[in-house]
Amino acid sequence: MGHEQVVFCQDPHTGLNAIIAIHNTTLGPSLGGTRLWNYNSHEEALVDALRLSRGMTYKSAISGLNLGGGKAVLIGDASKLKNEAYWRRYGKFVNSLNGKYITAEDVNTSSGDMEYIGMETKFVTGKPEYMGGSGDPSPLTAYGVYMGMKAAAKKAWGSDNLSGKRVLVQGAGNVGQYLMGHLVEEGAVLFISDINEAKLKQALGKYPKAQVVDSKDVFEKEYDIYAPCALGATVNTESINKMKCPVIAGAANNQLADENVHGPMLMEKGIIYVPDFLINAGGIINISIEIDGYNYDRAINTVGKIYNRTLDIFDIAEKDKVHTQLAAMRMAEKRLNDVAKLRVGI
Ligand code: NAD
Repeated sequence: MGHEQVVFCQDPHTGLNAIIAIHNTTLGPSLGGTRLWNYNSHEEALVDALRLSRGMTYKSAISGLNLGGGKAVLIGDASKLKNEAYWRRYGKFVNSLNGKYITAEDVNTSSGDMEYIGMETKFVTGKPEYMGGSGDPSPLTAYGVYMGMKAAAKKAWGSDNLSGKRVLVQGAGNVGQYLMGHLVEEGAVLFISDINEAKLKQALGKYPKAQVVDSKDVFEKEYDIYAPCALGATVNTESINKMKCPVIAGAANNQLADENVHGPMLMEKGIIYVPDFLINAGGIINISIEIDGYNYDRAINTVGKIYNRTLDIFDIAEKDKVHTQLAAMRMAEKRLNDVAKLRVGI
């Protein structure tokens, strides 16, 4: 995948077992969250780090940010590992890269964890608001997903109004729950699914009219919009064959199991797909603003641009007769190549 550097970090005292993948720093220091997950194998973790960091390169490039792509995965059981020493040890490893990689939150990591990491390195974002940070990126990620979803609705039905639209939010986590808030406010009919009962209960407490769908049956029902907000690769041959929804617009990273297979497959089936790295860039946009001194108004306005960018990608894909993921990748690669050329000369 063309990575610049991949670093393996181990510390037996704290149980830290990390992979930091730096994909591309053409546009600036690589920035991407730290994911803590109980992977089945080191290979699985490495593949995740490689794919996620590459996604970050595309995400920042298409969003007009001067940041490169990086990501870290930590292997192990979050409930057993998380403590001050663990995070500080990890912070020391991040620091050893001298700013080539800047970390942030992701699945199973919080702004409180970033505070511990920040005791050992300045190359950390997503710190709590009271420390001058931008805090939890999930609300802004969800807002960006909501804007991208509205753009997809406009493409599908000629209006971006989501009132009455049947939307399945798969994954009632941080982003999923904020997204549900926007959908309920606009009058969408909400379906939710999660493998974690506690998360479902929490979501139902906030949105009691939501209908729960068993995670094994998600693609058996008909929806207008499927919003993947759990983990990646849920858009695959099996799920596409079952899908009865005209739009996919959600927060998860790496939604397509194989972009070369499933991008064209969605196009053939006439399913409108909003590229993941375009629609879920709200969090990184928010964090990029933290680097220059955080300002919420600037953050939300910049995230709102996802709406027009999504419409642009639909137009380009249609004009070039390619699937939307490829159109978005080309747009990101063009910016990377154009900026790389700037390095020549004064
Ligand atoms: P989270 O951990 O808070 O939520 C994920 C939820 O998905 C959890 O509740 C989990 O139980 C659930 N889940 C896992 N497997 C599932 C399955 N098979 N079916 C149904 N539910 C399942 O994470 P999050 O921060 O909300 O992020 C969600 C996704 O969005 C991730 O893929 C993440 O990488 C991506 N993302 C998040 C942000 C952000 O700002 N947090 C930014 C960009 C992308």
